[in-house]
This record gives sequence, structure tokens and C-alpha cells, in this order.
Amino acid sequence: MSRVPHLAARLQGFGTTVFAEMSALAVATGSVNLGQGFPDYPGPPEVLDVARAAIGTAADQYPPGPGIPELRTAVAEHVRRFRGLDRDPGTEVLVTAGATEALSATLLALLETGDEVVLFEPMYDCYAAGIAMAGGVARPVPLHPPAPSSPTEPSGPWTFDPDDLRTAITARTKVLLLNTPHNPTGKVFTGAELALLAELAVANDLLVLADEVYEHLVFDGGQHLSIATFPGMAERTLVVGSAGKTFNVTGWKIGWICGPAPLVAAVRTAKQFLTYVNGGPFQPAVAAGLGLPDEYFAAAARDLQYRRDVLVQGLAAAGLPVISPAATYFATVDVRPVQPDGDGLAFCRTLPERAGVVAVPTVVFYAPEHAHLGRHLVRFAFCKSDAVLGEAVERLGRLA
Ligand SMILES: *Cc1c(COP(=O)(O)O)cnc(C)c1O
Repeated sequence: MSRVPHLAARLQGFGTTVFAEMSALAVATGSVNLGQGFPDYPGPPEVLDVARAAIGTAADQYPPGPGIPELRTAVAEHVRRFRGLDRDPGTEVLVTAGATEALSATLLALLETGDEVVLFEPMYDCYAAGIAMAGGVARPVPLHPPAPSSPTEPSGPWTFDPDDLRTAITARTKVLLLNTPHNPTGKVFTGAELALLAELAVANDLLVLADEVYEHLVFDGGQHLSIATFPGMAERTLVVGSAGKTFNVTGWKIGWICGPAPLVAAVRTAKQFLTYVNGGPFQPAVAAGLGLPDEYFAAAARDLQYRRDVLVQGLAAAGLPVISPAATYFATVDVRPVQPDGDGLAFCRTLPERAGVVAVPTVVFYAPEHAHLGRHLVRFAFCKSDAVLGEAVERLGRLA
């Protein structure tokens, strides 16, 4: 990778992302963009209307640093309702500028230079950069893909080797960063896997940073479990959530983090000098959203499951072996049958021309030294309207 002038050494290698390249390619070629994971349909009116009404009021000015009390209370009640955890809205909940700020503020707050963070790979792109900006070192543990499924059967789970995990944890490990449901794989970590992670966290005295932004987007009657609910974990776990994924408002950038008071106070120290506050009129709207009845959250999962099925069937019909996800916005494809050199990046660069569709190569979610593990995989987003998904599926049919 070429050196970017002026850029600090710790950020070299994080220069330009393939997301920008693929989005530009989508615009230039008039392709259907299934690269970036954002919904193209609106959120619930109960949420949108509150934000509209709040604009032009005192909500336009700086909210309190930790977030408006109404939203902190709504986060605590939501965590009690869905996870059975008691968090004090005064000291154990912090509102952030999206899950992204919650993650980067936590890494900045907790890591000394050289401290290590163990996490699963492929990994959401902001983790490696967030760890690097905080002076930490990422220790990725590979997730292994299952064999692609037929369109009528669910795929097996992505798995990891517990010995790889044990080897990755060293005396320098400070944080275990766990994303479940997981982007980009769509894996939902099982109770047995979480029990093992919890046991290792306790045995090695690790702090756990749990990114659960897809907590409500789980399919086929599956269940999201929070590692914070496992024995010995409530006192060492920070859980991150986001309104973006739950209420189809990714541009609002309202997130939150919950955990024991001393850890939340540490995160708040870093957060107050990053953005201080954000999204005044959106905070009461998200509070209203978090209070919606259980049926809203169940319906959101059902709706997205239907979109998953449309895309997975379309990909399979196009001759692409699909790993059908158990959750999230994304399906993964093994490109080898249609791209004999098995190069997912090359496949994505030519897909706009071949089929008028844009996707993202999974290789970008791996550390450079592990790129070979995800070279043949490509991620497609299905959080799109019927018209867009239908058009994408029809175009992908050109590959068959
Ligand atoms: C989208 C996403 C985020 C970022 O959430 P924001 O609230 O938009 O900052 C964090 N983690 C994962 C796994 C995501 O997919």
C-alpha cells in the first residue's frame, strides 16, 4: 500500500476505502448499489414525527453532555425489557454520535499504547482504524465460512477455533471487541460461544466491548444474546447500540453505550472532547422509538428477513453460491464459480459492467496479513426497497 503524505504513521493504510471506490463506480455506471448498508426506505412515523416537531424548539441547542435524560431513561428501559439488565440512566448510559463514536471513544478511553484488542475477522471497518487511532494493536481471530447453501435451506454458521482465540489472548490483551449479530457475516453468536468468550474474559481479566447495533435484526426466529448477561460479565462489559440500524435512520447518528458506571465515566471523558454532544432534535425521537411496543421490533426483523430471502434467491438464481445470513443487512457470496481466479475485488470491479450491480469485496474486512481468508467472498446489502431489490435481482440474472 502506498504511503499517504502528511498522514500520521498510525493511520497509514487506512487511506481510501473500497466503499468510496464502489459508490463512485455505482454512480458512474448507473448501477444498483448494494455496497453500502443503509436502508432506502423511511423509519417509523412515530419516530420521524417527534424529530420534526422538535426542530425549532430548545432541542436545537446543546443537549446535556451524556444525552437528554429522556433518552438515557429510554435506553435503560429498553435494555431492561430486552436483556433483563439493570442500568442506571444517570451513571450507566451515555448517548453518543452513533455507535461509531461510542466505539472510538471507548478505545481512546481504555487503551494504553501497545494494548491489544482481540476481535473476530472479518471485522467492521471502523474497528481496526479505531484501535490504531487509540495506539492499540488489533489481534484478529478468523471466523470460518460455512459451505454455501441451496436457496431453500439455511446456511450453517460461521465458526471459529477456540484455540485460535486462546492463542490471540496475551498478557497485553485489554479488550475483547465482540460484534454480534456480526457485520459482514450475518453470524449470531450462540449461547455456547458467548459462554466460552465470557469465561475467557473473566479468566484473563478482559474488558468487553460489545457492538450490538443489529440486536433486533435477527431472522428465522433466532435470538440475539448479549454477552453482558453472562456470569461475571455485567461488571466488565460495555454494550453499544444505534438508532440507525433499528429505526432506519443511519444519517441521524444517534448511538449509545451502557455499562458499569466507572467504565461509562471513562468513555464519557473521551467522548466529551470528540463531539461533546450531537443530534439534539433526534434524541427525543429515538427515545420515542425505543419505547415502541415489542411488535415494532419483531416486524422490523420479519420485514428484513423477507428482503434477505428475495436477494438470496436472486443471487442463487444467478449462479452465485450464497451464505445466507442469520441476521443483519448483508448476504455473502462465494464468487469462485463465476470468477475463476477467485478474486472478489476483481469481481466487484467488473460487476457494474457485467450486471449493473455494485457490491463490496469481503477482503476489505480482513487485516492485510489475513486477506487470503476472504479473497473469494463478496458482501451484498439487502436493506433496500422492493423496487431496488427487484431490479438488482433481475440484473444479476444476466450473470447466469
Ligand atoms: C453500522 C454499524 C455501526 C455504526 O453505527 P452508527 O450508529 O451509524 O455509527 C457500528 N457497528 C456495526 C457492526 C455496524 O454495522
